[in-house]
Amino acid sequence: MTEAAIVHTAPPANLLGMTRAQMAEFMVSLGEKPFRAQQIMKWIHHRGVSNFDDMTDIGKALRERLKSVAEIRPPQVISQHDSKDGTRKWAIGVGGGNVVETVLIPDGDRATLCVSSQVGCSLDCSFCSTGKQGFQRDLSAAEIIGQVWLAIQSYDGFPSHSKRVVTNVVMMGMGEPLLNFDNVVAATGLMMDDLGYGISKRRVTLSTSGVVPALYKLAEVSQVSLAISLHAPNDSLRSELVPVNRRYPISELLEACNHYIAAQPDTHRVVTVEYTLIAGVNDQREHAIELAKLLKDFPCKINLIPFNPFSLSDYQRPSKNAVNRFWQVLTDAGFVTTVRTTRGDDIDAACGQLAGQVVDRTRRSARHLSRSENIQPIKLVNN
Ligand code: SAH
Ligand code: SF4
Repeated sequence: MTEAAIVHTAPPANLLGMTRAQMAEFMVSLGEKPFRAQQIMKWIHHRGVSNFDDMTDIGKALRERLKSVAEIRPPQVISQHDSKDGTRKWAIGVGGGNVVETVLIPDGDRATLCVSSQVGCSLDCSFCSTGKQGFQRDLSAAEIIGQVWLAIQSYDGFPSHSKRVVTNVVMMGMGEPLLNFDNVVAATGLMMDDLGYGISKRRVTLSTSGVVPALYKLAEVSQVSLAISLHAPNDSLRSELVPVNRRYPISELLEACNHYIAAQPDTHRVVTVEYTLIAGVNDQREHAIELAKLLKDFPCKINLIPFNPFSLSDYQRPSKNAVNRFWQVLTDAGFVTTVRTTRGDDIDAACGQLAGQVVDRTRRSARHLSRSENIQPIKLVNN
């Protein structure tokens, strides 16, 4: 091949994950006016359009140009599972045989989408199946916001004025969101942006195991609601369960959260404290008492999550009595305390069960097959 025949073309830019500012910059780079960005964002996020030819208020010349340099590419759905309780889970192929999962949990007039941020996770919490896989890679902003896009599309929820498929988003799927900082900030920004999904900042929640420096950075650029995975009332126990605590102990984590709340323009913000209850490990009365003392002056509500067992873990879920006892101590101490009910149990959609990359594929698929009444035929979204 002669040198002249080698043509280097840039890969098409995926417009799905672009923020308002990035989209405007992209349009300007094409010699277009920035307002084109608004038109295109509305087509993508309000109307679910992924084909430039459907964008009827964009002139033909620009549509042709866009087709040659850009694309709107949602993540590829490998399978979709529906639980008897209405929970829906999608497995999303992210290349190299890796899979991440997204779950939609309807609850009355709310529907909460649990979104993944990374393929695997490097933080290796002792009770988490994602942690057992190690870290594979960060998801792109398009792959993160694409989980919202495909959930809405799967319920025929575009355009947005017909019905609200997703009312709340929690970054509580696979991965540590603050270790994929830029993409998570871009994607959560799009969730809250009126040109994106227009979800209130109190209904978009980022959950972190406590990457303290990133929390300070987040305070400068985001207004997302915060949840922290505490799981223990003291450093020695927390360091066993959440190894990142050895680097950033509880006092530093709580201080960073206070800073985050103080930096928000609105008042009365609270942090959701997540506490996974593991039988005999952190679920005793004295743990609850110590936790109440620790959080005495911390603006928070507490969410107790009974441990969800998985094959690679010896931990046990606590008894109902143990959960109630823990809840009672905290409630008596004046904390707003909720217990997360397990949803989507029949499709392994519960918190911490989003196994993603199919490491134990045989076991999982065998179980899924035995419950074939809950499985929809594989649906490929391949626009
Ligand atoms: N990496 C982030 C977000 C993803 S995990 C974080 O750690 O906060 C979302 C929540 O599920 C966290 O509170 C996590 O501690 C909890 N979790 C993980 N595995 C679990 C399991 N097996 N049972 C119950 N909760 C679990
Ligand atoms: Fe990572 Fe969160 Fe799992 Fe810990 S609990 S290993 S931070 S995904």
